Amino acid sequence: MILAIASGKGGTGKTTLSTNLASYISEKQKVTLADLDVEEPNSGLFLDVEKDLEKDMFKKIPEWKESECILCGKCQEWCKFNCIQVLGDEVMIFPEFCHTCHMCVDLCPGSALSFKDVRMGRLSKSHKGNLTFVESRLNIGEEQAVSLISQTIDYTENYADEDELIIVDAPPGAACPVMEVVDKSDFVILVTEPTPFGLNDLKIAVETMRVLNREFAVVINRYGIGNDDVISYCKAENIDILAKINNDRKLAELYSKGNLLYKHSENLREQLDLIIEKLHLLK
Ligand code: SF4
Ligand code: SF4
Repeated sequence: MILAIASGKGGTGKTTLSTNLASYISEKQKVTLADLDVEEPNSGLFLDVEKDLEKDMFKKIPEWKESECILCGKCQEWCKFNCIQVLGDEVMIFPEFCHTCHMCVDLCPGSALSFKDVRMGRLSKSHKGNLTFVESRLNIGEEQAVSLISQTIDYTENYADEDELIIVDAPPGAACPVMEVVDKSDFVILVTEPTPFGLNDLKIAVETMRVLNREFAVVINRYGIGNDDVISYCKAENIDILAKINNDRKLAELYSKGNLLYKHSENLREQLDLIIEKLHLLK
C-alpha cells in the first residue's frame, strides 16, 4: 500500500505527520518513508538514519543532429511546452522545460532528434531499524519535478517488500508534482489546519482528490487554534477526519530542533494510533 501524506499548502504539518507516523510504525514493523517533496525535501532532518546509497537521477532530453535535419519546423509546432525552437538554420532545445513527452523525437521526419540522459537530481536511501528512508533532491534550477518523483516512486516500490507499507511525503499544492504522487498512491491523507487559509487550501486539495478519483481522509493539525469551519466542511462533504493533533507550543519548539514529536507527546501517539487503526496500517 502506498499512503500519501499531502496538503493544499506548505507548513500545515505534512512532514511532521509523515516522519512521526513512519517512525512510530517502524517500532512494530517494516515501513518505508519516501520524501517526494523533491524541490525541498526535509523529512531527513528528523530521522537519525544511516545512509546506504546515493545515486544520480536522469531525465531524457532530445538531442539535435544537424546533418539529419531538414529544418521543417514541425518540432517547434508540436512542442506544447515551447522548449524546442527553430532559429534560422539551427534547432535550439531548452532542457529545463522539456517534459520528455517523446512527441518531437518520435515524429521528426528527418530522424534528427534522439534522446540523451541529463542529470536532474540525486536519490539517496537510508535506514534505521525497520525504517527505510528514500529521498530525492532536484537539481537547483531544474524545472521538472514530475519525472524525478515518478522515478523515485518506482525505485521505492521495487525496493520495498511486496506487502510493506510505503508512506510518501507529497509536495505541497495541487499542481502536477502532487498529482503524480496522488495518482500512484492507494490512499491520501490531507493534512490541514483549522484556519480560513487551511480550509481554503483543503477545498482545493479535496477537488484534486475527486478529479483523480482517489480515496482520502483528513487529519487536522494544530487543533485548538482558529475555528470549527474545517470540521463543519468535512461533515457537510462527508469526509472522514482521521485524527486531530493538538496545537502545542512545546512541540513546535521541539520540532524546530529536529525532534520526532511522538516521543514527547501522548496526544500525538493517541492520534497516530487512531490513524493506524482506521487505515489498518499494521499487519
Ligand atoms: S522536426 Fe526534425 S527535421 Fe524538422 S526541424 Fe525539427 S529536428 Fe529538424
Ligand atoms: S520531448 Fe516533448 S517536451 Fe521535450 S522538447 Fe520534445 S516535444 Fe517538447
